[in-house]
Amino acid sequence: MTPIERDPTWPEVSFQDRMDTVRFDVHERAHIVVDGSKCEGCSTQHCVVACPANLFVPTSDGGIVFNYEQCFECGTCYLVCNVEGAITWTYPDGGHGVVFRRT
Ligand code: SF4
Ligand code: SF4
Repeated sequence: MTPIERDPTWPEVSFQDRMDTVRFDVHERAHIVVDGSKCEGCSTQHCVVACPANLFVPTSDGGIVFNYEQCFECGTCYLVCNVEGAITWTYPDGGHGVVFRRT
């Protein structure tokens, strides 16, 4: 597969600078829940590399730590996870969640 090249006319932007362009109106209810027991034995852990916000962190015992607070609501984790029931995905309750803005 041919790697995707970055358009050279686009400015280089660090991950932190990108994160600084959004804010999060966090609701107390987690809109994504990860069932850690289902993650045990997951050999791919696709969520770790696929999440653009780096919210899935592998632990030394093969588990996953997940935090929903800085989620972009892109749905990628739900699409790439191949273990049924490991991820329960909904949008945050109305008016909450990520707020994108231009810089
Ligand atoms: S969330 Fe899905 S892809 Fe990620 S570790 Fe758990 S089972 Fe694997
Ligand atoms: S919806 Fe997107 S940003 Fe949110 S946890 Fe899943 S992959 Fe990460």
